[in-house]
Amino acid sequence: MNSEFLRLFDYPPGLFPPGTPMDVMLRYNYERGDFGDVDPDATIAMLMKRFEVRGVINAERRVPNGRVIDIRTAPRADGGFVVTHLDITDRIRIEDELRQAKERAEAAARELREAQQQLVVQEKMASLGQLTAGIAHELKNPLNFVNNFAELSGELLDELCALISPLSAQLDPDQKADFDELVGSLHSNLRKIAEHGRRADGIVKSMLAHSRGGSGEWRNTELNVLIEESLALAYHAARAQDREFNVSFNRHYDPAAGTLDLVPQDMSRVLVNLFTNAFYSVRRRQRDGGENDYRPQLTITTIDCNDKVQIKVHDNGAGMSKPVIDKLFTPFFTTKPTGEGTGLGLSLSYDIVVHQHRGRFDVSSVENEYAEFTITLPRVVPPVSLGERRKP
Ligand code: ADP
Repeated sequence: MNSEFLRLFDYPPGLFPPGTPMDVMLRYNYERGDFGDVDPDATIAMLMKRFEVRGVINAERRVPNGRVIDIRTAPRADGGFVVTHLDITDRIRIEDELRQAKERAEAAARELREAQQQLVVQEKMASLGQLTAGIAHELKNPLNFVNNFAELSGELLDELCALISPLSAQLDPDQKADFDELVGSLHSNLRKIAEHGRRADGIVKSMLAHSRGGSGEWRNTELNVLIEESLALAYHAARAQDREFNVSFNRHYDPAAGTLDLVPQDMSRVLVNLFTNAFYSVRRRQRDGGENDYRPQLTITTIDCNDKVQIKVHDNGAGMSKPVIDKLFTPFFTTKPTGEGTGLGLSLSYDIVVHQHRGRFDVSSVENEYAEFTITLPRVVPPVSLGERRKP
């Protein structure tokens, strides 16, 4: 036992002169509290036994003074053995620090990957939005021609019929019938062109909304009030379409949500779209689900998160599959039948929430259980984005 050994274990010098039996040392260890609250005789006997049986130990031991000691034994030819004690406290501490640093680095890398993914999605949506608006711009003029000429042709046809009517008396009955049928078909075709032209016009207008510049004003707005107004709007529209429609509302408005800077006109559009989609989905589950005890529910929650505010819109409708969720914000993606959906609602909403208001748009859903959309808005839109808020 050299002096370094005594120092490692905090033994006063000269305490164990050469020849001291092992159990005396173990008893000293017990008495100063190394073994804690145990039966001393049994513990010392057990430790002595370990030396007898195995002769050799390789262990790591933490001593009460906080050191970590690596203990190794090497047998000797004469039957005894040499025990080496190595102070590895610093190595263990460094290893601990390294592990923590590695965990921190891994967490940061994970966050970075997520942020990068979010950015890629944002960029993709932005360019798709611009593309959509660009196409709409190109379509607007030819579509105007179609609509205007359809209308004009209807008027010309009426004039033609008025001009011809004195002459039609001279036609024989078969020719007259053919004539009337032709005029009828032309009228009906022109009505169809006008009707579908109007529909196309509506789609083009929604597409153009992607690049609509600065129409809405930024205003400090009471969030819960804006939600309530948008809900009333969407609900009345749904009831106007279907008198039977019913849904129960659960409102969990956080009074601390308060006011925040936003473009109420645009944000209301986002909310109305979310509510309309939710109504459609609960109605679909009610109609197609075949569940007698199904009760449509819409839960709206606002949460104050200090520098941010969250809006959650949760419906217990048909929900969405993973492939649908993946394409949700892509322009023109719709699962609704032709004529019922354009697939522009959510892509435009994404544009408004993420690009215009610098917020987040998240979604989670389980098919035939629920769909939940979460909008997170900053209370103060970062100044860097002020100049970018909508190009004229
Ligand atoms: P549209 O309503 O014209 O289809 P949106 O962009 O608003 O366009 O929605 C795209 C698609 O997202 C919908 O066709 C539907 O499949 C899905 N969707 C949106 N909201 C919900 C919801 N609350 N529950 C289930 N599916 C939804």
